[in-house]
Amino acid sequence: MDYAYRYVGQSSVYLNVTNRCTNRCSFCVRYKTDGLGGAVLWGMEEPDLQMLQESVLRLSHLADVREFIWCGFGEPTFRLELIREAAPWLRSYGARIRLNTNGHACLIHGRDVIPELAESVDEVSVSLNAPGCSRYVEVCRPDSEGAVGNEKLYWKAMLDFLRRAPYWFKSAQASVVRYALAEEEIELSRSLARSLGIHHLRVR
Ligand code: SF4
Repeated sequence: MDYAYRYVGQSSVYLNVTNRCTNRCSFCVRYKTDGLGGAVLWGMEEPDLQMLQESVLRLSHLADVREFIWCGFGEPTFRLELIREAAPWLRSYGARIRLNTNGHACLIHGRDVIPELAESVDEVSVSLNAPGCSRYVEVCRPDSEGAVGNEKLYWKAMLDFLRRAPYWFKSAQASVVRYALAEEEIELSRSLARSLGIHHLRVR
């Protein structure tokens, strides 16, 4: 598994640190391929800080990096401690740090972890993915067999994360996947995001 990768000509480095996830989204690319951008992102053990650093240092042109993005073929906040531990080293490159998340971090850890994430991350992109709970459950298929056992709690946890994000992070946006929703549902998602104080909806 490659823990760090980038696309040709881009100044962002993606950090892939887990395959664990609380969702099983119908559109998730990991069900179709083992990797992206020439990197293998599925399988093998999760990295510690040293393994992540070695993977980043293998990339070329690090001086051009403007952004590190915690992502994954999985939900990166499962690796909260690594995100915290790596922040000073990543910041030493003078780059921004972004988190792409499904917004379930507080549910995953059973406590409010947004203040901890805010110390280690500058920008956050939260997968809203639907205009309402029932569509969210259909599209994202949250893990009803997990410790919580109630799919609606995943929707509520994501909304709570999104609502609080503007107060904790320098920049916060929501996202939806175009082909998973009807046009009307995308606009309803935009309205929902705005009602939560999020003014940028990324339609992927
Ligand atoms: S939250 Fe992300 S990693 Fe998890 S299943 Fe959905 S798209 Fe895939």
